[in-house]
Amino acid sequence: MSLTGLCQVCEAAAATDSCDRCGRAVCDDHWDETARACAGCAAGRG
Ligand SMILES: [Zn+2]
Ligand SMILES: [Zn+2]
Repeated sequence: MSLTGLCQVCEAAAATDSCDRCGRAVCDDHWDETARACAGCAAGRG
């Protein structure tokens, strides 16, 4: 999957993954590989 644009969480780093739960594109810092979701969804806060 190739993404363009910035992480929709921090809006500072390039997005590397998109969350299947909320659809946000997020950078590596905000991607939880274990949960396969963004940091927000992985923390259970959507
Ligand atoms: Zn980010
Ligand atoms: Zn999410």
